[in-house]
Amino acid sequence: MRRYDLHCHSTRSDGLLAPADVVLRAAQRGVDVLALTDHDEVSGLSEARSAATEAGIEFVCGTELSVSWEDLTIHVVGLRIDPDNATLGTGLASIRDGRSSRARRMGDALADAGIPGAYEGALKFVTSERLVSRTHFARFLVEAGYAREVRDVFKRYLVPGKPGHVAHAWATLGEAVEWIHVAGGQAVVAHPGRYKVDGGGMRRLLAEFRDAGGDAIEVLSPSHTPAQYTEFATKCRVYGLAGSCGSDYHGPGESWMDLGDLPPMPAGVVPVWKNW
Ligand code: AMP
Ligand code: MN
Ligand code: MN
Ligand code: MN
Repeated sequence: MRRYDLHCHSTRSDGLLAPADVVLRAAQRGVDVLALTDHDEVSGLSEARSAATEAGIEFVCGTELSVSWEDLTIHVVGLRIDPDNATLGTGLASIRDGRSSRARRMGDALADAGIPGAYEGALKFVTSERLVSRTHFARFLVEAGYAREVRDVFKRYLVPGKPGHVAHAWATLGEAVEWIHVAGGQAVVAHPGRYKVDGGGMRRLLAEFRDAGGDAIEVLSPSHTPAQYTEFATKCRVYGLAGSCGSDYHGPGESWMDLGDLPPMPAGVVPVWKNW
């Protein structure tokens, strides 16, 4: 069976490895088909694609879009997109633009909470000036001694209701699906088990996603428990959506799952790669 990993990050967003190094690591770990899905960004795809050709693995052009839905931020992965598509490119640029002012506001909010210099501190960890994320603030807060690990920082400082979180409007769900489709790709709801919704909220999200033309649910993700693999496999059948899988790898020492470490897709789920 071919091993698919359709969700991971490089230094073009908040990952720790350069695009070519992500591909190399995936190849060494036995991944047959890899998608690089940097947040709101496609600039790492050409480097990654060349590295994949050299390493002899199949490469899928991807990206992970930030979306505001109801009062939540959700993520939509685009797979097999054309990285040169102008509509997608303009859409991604509009999402990225908002990130810089948001980062400044995060710095101000943390300063008000008694943590000075966080904006400047986060910038030291930014690896692409096009994209600053909460992850870079998290790395600064660990370095400055406010928490031991990146994972701890989020729940104490960077999630809604905590001092370093500022509300921000990303793309809409409809825009994200549309841009991905215009660029020839498939749209996948990323790690749905992570969103703070009740049963009704999840039903609204998946119904709206399906009605917008969405293609798949990320069933297998390090954000999910084995019980959630089964739960989202069932949702795929109920909503007529395909299933996807991805490690959401960000780099050594920071991730729950390494590249390629995914269990098999539950029986009865149509894989998103069925017609590739
Ligand atoms: P942003 O897009 O700037 O809001 O940053 C979101 C990124 O922060 C995600 O893609 C993850 O890489 C990271 N992240 C979010 N929540 C957590 C968490 N609880 N623990 C560790 N990393 C997280
Ligand atoms: Mn990330
Ligand atoms: Mn995500
Ligand atoms: Mn991700």
